[in-house]
Amino acid sequence: MAETALLDPDEPHPVTFDNEAGRSVFFLTCDHAGRMIPRSLDRLGLPEHETQRHIAWDIGIGAVGRQLSRLLDAAVVLQTYSRLVIDCNRDPKVPSSIPEISEVTQIPGNRGLTEAARAARINAIFRPYHDAIGAALGRRAAASRATVLIALHSFTPVFKGVARPWHVAVLYNRDTRLAHCLFELLSAEDGLVVGDNEPYAVSDLTDYTVPVHGERRGLPYVEIEIRQDQIDDPAGQTIWAQRLARVLPAAYSEFLRL
Ligand SMILES: [Zn+2]
Repeated sequence: MAETALLDPDEPHPVTFDNEAGRSVFFLTCDHAGRMIPRSLDRLGLPEHETQRHIAWDIGIGAVGRQLSRLLDAAVVLQTYSRLVIDCNRDPKVPSSIPEISEVTQIPGNRGLTEAARAARINAIFRPYHDAIGAALGRRAAASRATVLIALHSFTPVFKGVARPWHVAVLYNRDTRLAHCLFELLSAEDGLVVGDNEPYAVSDLTDYTVPVHGERRGLPYVEIEIRQDQIDDPAGQTIWAQRLARVLPAAYSEFLRL
């Protein structure tokens, strides 16, 4: 059976790749930068306001990623479509890849999907995004360029009614080294409450970008989550981009001395 196209020809490509030629060791990813929903999915049956909430995307992180890319002269890859369509930081084999419920919101358009419908989302969005990252990392390796993977995310200040105290969180899985260096530096910043692998920790089931592109390639990496009320306006986005542009190189210097 022929697969129906998920995206119309005039809809945006899922991948935005800026500054690939940037000279920095840092390689930035924003899996949840965008909140677009392909026209053919009819807003997944959701009211407009649900598609603007944190369940649909990582509020603010795309703008931080773009600024940080400029400040560090680093490559940045951003994904355009809502994680409610397909979560680009999940293995497509896990159920939360195309969630039927997110926080407490039912997603009608994700219920009872056929294998063909699931494959269409993987092939139109997930695969091109991760192929772009994999190919770029491959080109860097072939050119003997050092690479440090920085996976950028943001998290909601209140989840299921519970307020989160952390302004930022540093997440890691098997390789804790760069994350611990960054944690120490961020914790030393005035007034910052820093999560150490909380409210989330990286794992093979709940993440894809770090385990696949970072750990499997043996790259130093860290996943950074910024609380959304810190970066929901341009002033906050600039503060955080400037802060990360200062502390990431310092953390990497510490890491190299380990
Ligand atoms: Zn995210």
